[in-house]
Amino acid sequence: MARSMRFTYWRCDAEGGKFISFFDFLKEKSFIHPLSPDQINELRQNVRVIDCSNCGAPIDLERNSICSFCHSPVAMLDMQQPQRLIAELQQAASKPVDPMLPANLAMATLDADRVFAAFHDDDGRRGSSPGGLVQSGLAAVGRWVEKFVI
Ligand SMILES: [Zn+2]
Repeated sequence: MARSMRFTYWRCDAEGGKFISFFDFLKEKSFIHPLSPDQINELRQNVRVIDCSNCGAPIDLERNSICSFCHSPVAMLDMQQPQRLIAELQQAASKPVDPMLPANLAMATLDADRVFAAFHDDDGRRGSSPGGLVQSGLAAVGRWVEKFVI
């Protein structure tokens, strides 16, 4: 469990690592949270059907607030979490620097590039975000970050 979200991963019996889906990774890191009843009601006023962020199945908001296929709750990106992460990194920066930090940051940057590249169409258009609220939120964060990077 991470906050109120249950996540699943598979661990190698030979200590070779673990496999976790991207959606479960976001849950583990507290980057997404389930919508409150008020938020679901607000969403219902504008949208009738939404794609499940976990499996992509349609969720009829008139009848459900969880996916009838994989039982994931309707969830969205927690926009506060990136700010908490930055605050933690700033606090960590005041401590002695880990010699592996530059390499770890380079790997994290490559990972982020791969995530955000997934939201670009083949012809370079941006903003295509099938798959629900979490993917839409990630696409929005990607567009926001690009303003500062480019
Ligand atoms: Zn689902």
